Amino acid sequence: MNRRYRKTIIAGNWKMNKLPSECKEYILRLKEKAAAAKWCDVVLCVPFTHLASAVKAARGTRIAIGAQNCHFADKGAYTGEVSCAMLADLGVKYVIIGHSERRAYFGETDLDVNKKVKAALDAGLRPIVCLGESLDIRENNAALDHIRMQLKFALKDITAQQLRKVVIAYEPIWAIGTGKVATAEQANEVGSAIRETLRAIYGARAARGVSILYGGSMSEKNAEGLLAMPDVDGGLIGGASLDTEKLGGIIEAARQELKGN
Ligand code: PEP
Repeated sequence: MNRRYRKTIIAGNWKMNKLPSECKEYILRLKEKAAAAKWCDVVLCVPFTHLASAVKAARGTRIAIGAQNCHFADKGAYTGEVSCAMLADLGVKYVIIGHSERRAYFGETDLDVNKKVKAALDAGLRPIVCLGESLDIRENNAALDHIRMQLKFALKDITAQQLRKVVIAYEPIWAIGTGKVATAEQANEVGSAIRETLRAIYGARAARGVSILYGGSMSEKNAEGLLAMPDVDGGLIGGASLDTEKLGGIIEAARQELKGN
């Protein structure tokens, strides 16, 4: 992380877990940890059904609420879908886009991801754009090329001005929910490649302002090493975010790291 140029972000992703009625208690437990971590933005991404309760419970705290998906159209005949304008109207600030589970189970393509990123930015939301390679791709030494390609697709026609609102999450698929975490060096290597690609497209100034998160079995036990890397600006956390003690431990690791940064 680098406090001088960009925000550290610790974002929880509940996926399809917990109930709407659990938001209040959870946020009550987490809010002191978030308050203590001054230079770190804390985000909690919950299912659509939980958003209203979560936004209400997070009012007056340093926790911002995010969604886990959106539709790219503003409105219309898309039964069962939720637009970015709807999310923004609720007080949602972030939206995860292109999570590998959505790409794998719901057929989300790079083109969909790009349309959703544009829709999120148009609605004033901050997209957390997920990129990541499979084990196969990594073993074929093609991880960096794959990530660069996903990144370019996701950000097609996004301006440097818009980029300031974009958050990137590097999430190797082989590390998500598996307990198999990337080494700090692997996470940083990809983080640096992402920043290098951003630099080539948008210039050094714009690139250094982008927060690049790592996601994939991050926990309170391994966060310190990952967050110490210069191109790991925080985490997107699934499993460990279901427990406030664990997510709080990761926020604390970020706070300690930022003190010395
Ligand atoms: C995720 O859902 O984005 C994630 C990284 O999950 P986990 O932390 O459980 O690997």
